[in-house]
Amino acid sequence: MEYEGLLDEAYENVEATDECERFEVLKVKGHHEGVRTIISNFGQIVLCIRRKPEHFLKFLTKELASSGEIKGDRLILSRKLASKDVNDKIEKYVNGFVLCPKCKKPDTELENAGAKAFLRCLACGEKYEVHKI
Ligand SMILES: [Zn+2]
Repeated sequence: MEYEGLLDEAYENVEATDECERFEVLKVKGHHEGVRTIISNFGQIVLCIRRKPEHFLKFLTKELASSGEIKGDRLILSRKLASKDVNDKIEKYVNGFVLCPKCKKPDTELENAGAKAFLRCLACGEKYEVHKI
């Protein structure tokens, strides 16, 4: 596996804020520490896709076959991962659990109902069943 060129923007500092003005899928920023991958802007990413960090974390760790831990704004993954792979999974999450399949707007809510989970669109009112994770 080739890891060169990964996390190019590492060490670029982004001021963490506690809000995100508009919906946006940010690219990960971070670096490697030994075999671990540290995503330094995880908090900001979660804010901008408007989902709960725990839900997003569960999805990512499953998809990336890595364990993960949230520390403040950072996500620490137990495997050495290329930023592209992490970004791909973030996109997959956004397409599956944030954007409305019908109107493509991000104004949605996740609802759990027993063993099922639904994505409800606040813009067009559609409700879709999604994988429970
Ligand atoms: Zn919709």
